[in-house]
Amino acid sequence: MVNKYTARYKSKYDCISEGRKGKLRLDFNENTIGCSPKAIAAIKNICAEDLAAYPEYTAFKNKLAKFLEVNAKNLFLTNGADEAINLVFNTYLKRDDQLIIPTPSFEMLNIYAQNIGAKVISVLYKKNESNENNSSTKNEFIFPTKDVLAQINNRTKLVVLVNPNNPTGTVIDEKDILKIVEKARKNNAIVLIDEAYYEFYGKTCIRLVRKYNNLIIVRTFSKAFGLAGLRLGYAIADERLINNLKKISSPYNVNSIAVIAADAALDDVSYVKKYVDQITESRRFVEDGLNKLGFKTFKSEANFMIADFGEDVNKVVNGLAQKGILVRDRSRYQLLKDCVRITLGTKDQSIKFITEIKKILRQKVILFDLDGVLVDVNNSYRLAIKKTSEFFAKKKISDKEIQALKAKGGYNNDWDLTEAIILTRSLKIEKQKIIQKFQEFYNLFRKNEKLLIKIQTLQDLSKKYRLGIVTGRPRDEAGYVLNRFNVLKFFDAIIAMEDCGKKQKPDPFGINLALKRLKIGSIGKKDALYIGDNIDDIIAAKNAGIKAIAILQKDVNSESLKKRMLNLGALKILDDINQLPSVIA
Ligand SMILES: *Cc1c(COP(=O)(O)O)cnc(C)c1O
Repeated sequence: MVNKYTARYKSKYDCISEGRKGKLRLDFNENTIGCSPKAIAAIKNICAEDLAAYPEYTAFKNKLAKFLEVNAKNLFLTNGADEAINLVFNTYLKRDDQLIIPTPSFEMLNIYAQNIGAKVISVLYKKNESNENNSSTKNEFIFPTKDVLAQINNRTKLVVLVNPNNPTGTVIDEKDILKIVEKARKNNAIVLIDEAYYEFYGKTCIRLVRKYNNLIIVRTFSKAFGLAGLRLGYAIADERLINNLKKISSPYNVNSIAVIAADAALDDVSYVKKYVDQITESRRFVEDGLNKLGFKTFKSEANFMIADFGEDVNKVVNGLAQKGILVRDRSRYQLLKDCVRITLGTKDQSIKFITEIKKILRQKVILFDLDGVLVDVNNSYRLAIKKTSEFFAKKKISDKEIQALKAKGGYNNDWDLTEAIILTRSLKIEKQKIIQKFQEFYNLFRKNEKLLIKIQTLQDLSKKYRLGIVTGRPRDEAGYVLNRFNVLKFFDAIIAMEDCGKKQKPDPFGINLALKRLKIGSIGKKDALYIGDNIDDIIAAKNAGIKAIAILQKDVNSESLKKRMLNLGALKILDDINQLPSVIA
């Protein structure tokens, strides 16, 4: 049968907001923890009469007007900001009328315009970004004030400003807004400012409504207030504009429950304030976390931000979805190639988000021994061994002898090794004295330490792998050298002497502890790799059931040692740690 009824409206919003309950909803910019408990309590108190009667608005409207410091005559409650926008469009636009929408922006704007058959003039935001991939310098979108002003003329009926803008997070300077409102007024055009994210930004244009009779501000209880399910928004404008909106709205567009809950929520605005503070903190945390992983983020003043995941975009979006974390893929929008919009939640939710992304991107793990692998200790620990043994033995000890003992393994740490050398000179010295002397020397020499691995190598590796350290060094001394070279940030787990107690390498305890801290299960273990420079390292890796690669500096030319390492399962023996990325690629 032919359907002879032609719908006036054609397009529809592809709303995929189904099946989200229980998931971490970082996709629709809602409040991620919910509304004030006072709102819930108010709803629980609802009685039959509240539902039997048509809704009443006056008391709530007066309260909201007072809260907003506007006159109630300038306020109109709507079924979400969405209805307010739709009413404005239907009131002030007809087929072929022109409206200006800075783009990319809130998806519904285009849909409402299309439904009417109005002509959208899209003005593109400016994109300011640095070319450095993991740059912490600010990337941002900039509101195209000049271009918008240039497009306003006597055919313009409406200019829509979303401030802060969804999805870019961009804000518009008030002096730019004023220029636009004034030029629009000269051309008899309305300006609609969508302040859905006002609470996160803190600046509003509500005051301007008194001065400009062509200005409409739209707000909502859906975002910061955590009441998206109730559908409550409002418009603020000159009384005549408000009366025009009322003409086409249905009489009871807002339901009683929404009014009751929002009324209670207004008694607890400190709840919203606290939430906004958490979001501000999360914004820095997520930005920092993603930048460290090498992804660009864009400056935002709202509870969401744009991140550019480059070629990893699908992997990230799908990987997160599998973990029950929803984000909004905006990679097909203009200016937003490979970009995702991420709603910011609490600190804990942000930690979860970053942790999962790390797991998705870098499932493989590389663990490093510190001394002789990442750090050259020939002129620190080695020298301390030599000087301490010579101090007690009162004889010269050759580098070669130390080198050979070190490579052979079997000593838990350099103190034990020093004691062994002294013992070969048939001297029994109290261990505590050896340790004390050794530390004196080491503290003198430690400034001689050099980094063997280049920062670039660490950066390359840290993009694809999660990195950790398993060292026999005391924790403070490990921290000292890592901080000194500013490389601590590359490592997600550091296992030091104190973590292992008596179970030093070749016991696999340290390696297993690192894998546990990195949450590597039996599957991930197959790909884990340990990089060491002596036989105990290779045995520890073998005992832990992971692969090993040995680094032997060029002056260690023992063929038998190399053979033993290979026999123990070392995949390769390199003489320079910086060869690692190409060897494992
Ligand atoms: C979410 C959103 C809205 C819709 O808000 P409701 O009150 O839930 O209809 C309007 N404008 C922008 C920019 C939004 O992001």
